[in-house]
Amino acid sequence: MFLEKRPEKLIDKKGLRTDGRKPDELRPIKFEVGVLGNADGSARVQQGKTIILAAVYGPREVHPRHLALPDRAVLRCRYHMAPFSVSRRKSPAPSRREMELSKVIREALEPAIFLERYPRTSIDLFIEVLQADGGTRCASISVASLALADAGIPMRDLVAACAAGKVDGKLVVDLNDVEDKYGEADVPIAMMVGLNAVTLLQMDGMLDPKEFRTALNMAVEGCRQIYEMQKEALKEKYALIREELEK
Ligand code: UDP
Repeated sequence: MFLEKRPEKLIDKKGLRTDGRKPDELRPIKFEVGVLGNADGSARVQQGKTIILAAVYGPREVHPRHLALPDRAVLRCRYHMAPFSVSRRKSPAPSRREMELSKVIREALEPAIFLERYPRTSIDLFIEVLQADGGTRCASISVASLALADAGIPMRDLVAACAAGKVDGKLVVDLNDVEDKYGEADVPIAMMVGLNAVTLLQMDGMLDPKEFRTALNMAVEGCRQIYEMQKEALKEKYALIREELEK
């Protein structure tokens, strides 16, 4: 991984971060739903400088057929970073990290989907990171859950994801790339906010138990805010369709 030079300070004298945010402030986030004509469902997110597209096909017949399950649909997920998404060209071939993230993202979404309603089918999810500036697993989960909803796939709830962590000894939410690389810890979580159920919890780095609890609460609050934005983005799509129909 290409490491840019570490900024002298990750938190300045005023307590602000490298991008001017307060410790508990999310990056500006914009979700759009139904952005691709050829997928069954799609969504796009811009979270600070991170930009990700998600496309969903299905439920549809599984190929190869032996992968089909008799009692539920299989969710297949491919997380991929475009070669131009990071400052040093990334090989387009799937890396170990991308394989791991594909699995992590799939497992964070599976509990939300009524897979048992579609036996012998597959739901295929493609995630393309167009620009990466940290936090791509969380942004991928949030945007993928919108693409699944856009495809009309019945779900228990939307899944919202957000990380909290520690940089220069200070707990912060929604880490960007330099904070992720040079910070002391990163705790990404995903949750079905309406059901108060966590579907992903990871931790990289070191935190004491008190710091961990505070970071977890900060990430949960981040998920709550993202969940509201997700619902707004879904409603916006239908408001636009309504406007078109009423013309
Ligand atoms: N990254 C990079 N090159 C790579 C992979 C990752 O520059 O080949 C950067 C990218 O900005 C990414 C960040 O490192 O968002 C952190 O990656 P990590 O594996 O922690 O996952 P993420 O925080 O994106 O979920």
